Amino acid sequence: MEKVQLETLTGVIDKKMNRQLKQYIDICARCAICKDACHQYVGTGDFKYLPARRAELIRQIYKRYFDKAGRFMPALYEAREPDDNLLDELYDSTYACTGCRRCMYYCPFSIDTAWILSVAKAILIAAGRGNEMLGQLADAAIFKGDNAAMFEGVMLSGFDDISEEVRAITGDPEHRVHVNKEGADVLYVALAGAHSIRPAAVIFEEAGENWTISMFEAANYGFFYGDTEKARLITKRYIDEAKRLGVKEIVVPECGHAYRVAEFFYEAWSKEPMPFKVTHILEKVDDYIKSGRITVDKGLIEGKVTYHDPCQLGRNGGKFEQPRDIVKAVTDNFVDLTPNRAEQWCCGGGGGIVAMEEFKDVRLKSGAKKVEQLKASGASVLACPCENCRLQIEELNEVHELGMEIWQVIDLVVAAMPLPGNQKGAEATE
Ligand code: SF4
Ligand code: SF4
Repeated sequence: MEKVQLETLTGVIDKKMNRQLKQYIDICARCAICKDACHQYVGTGDFKYLPARRAELIRQIYKRYFDKAGRFMPALYEAREPDDNLLDELYDSTYACTGCRRCMYYCPFSIDTAWILSVAKAILIAAGRGNEMLGQLADAAIFKGDNAAMFEGVMLSGFDDISEEVRAITGDPEHRVHVNKEGADVLYVALAGAHSIRPAAVIFEEAGENWTISMFEAANYGFFYGDTEKARLITKRYIDEAKRLGVKEIVVPECGHAYRVAEFFYEAWSKEPMPFKVTHILEKVDDYIKSGRITVDKGLIEGKVTYHDPCQLGRNGGKFEQPRDIVKAVTDNFVDLTPNRAEQWCCGGGGGIVAMEEFKDVRLKSGAKKVEQLKASGASVLACPCENCRLQIEELNEVHELGMEIWQVIDLVVAAMPLPGNQKGAEATE
């Protein structure tokens, strides 16, 4: 590696490795308990996906440049230079990691391997080896933020089409997707695509919410790529919009990482407190149901329903009960997956891996535990409030011929609402 590049790379390590991270790499007992917690190691049996092994690569580089013994006697102290072999393995083990933190949950020292791998991503980017696809998707989102006017026409026309669909479902000619509404209480930051907007709009309108839609999407490929500045800029697009409109609350959609970015990371990245609260859409929906602002009918959803805790919403976001309460409000035929909540198996689709074709084989193999859980549940419907999880589980459903229906939770709610344009709801209102 060239001297200048090496200096950049060691500079990144120096900046990123805080006391907590140094402690993590010092205290690992190499007990390998984490191997049975990682869906990728369990699904592939490949040593490079063992959580402690992934972190070991960072430890080796760190020792080579920042540890006295490692600097002078690298061979004796397992210190290594970041040569091509090491960087290749680091790339595979880092970008494949879904950031589920199940390994941390089971580690006796709570070592956060996903956090250690955020340093690995910074190292790879500094070495010119960041994942190209994730980097391009992040840059495209930043470009949209810098050139919002260029995209406005197409966005507005899309919102008009969805408004038509909302009116057809609710039967209320006044219902629509509100855009650029100053003084709205809620800014809903959806995912790209009508599927993320239409059911949310039906629910907001039926609840009588004072809401407006964001011109930007909640998905954040800068976060997956591993560049906190890009991730901050992507989030800042809708934070600035929320400030301009004067909303009281940002509501994020059924997307695990978008929730964590908005709720837990943005303030740390931007070093400014947010003047509004961040809420996950299922917290709002749960509240609408419990307070009677929307009505759901238990007889409209057919079949046994189960629920998948997306890692970023559940284990890493602490939201276990509200989504379950919603599902239980729309059906009496609910069965939980085993294990569940904090012990839930990662489906294998997080961390941006569904956008990286090169990891397809690992991704599908690493869904083995999820397939096992789904089969054991005997359910025919899965409620799954995360886009990445849904994409992965839909593919597992197809490959393993599970014959399940995979639903967004908000779609399940709309299907359970007695509304004239909702086929099942219309039957209920007859
Ligand atoms: S479980 Fe924790 S201490 Fe044990 S090998 Fe894994 S990371 Fe290290
Ligand atoms: S965070 Fe998840 S995918 Fe990454 S090493 Fe840990 S268990 Fe495996």
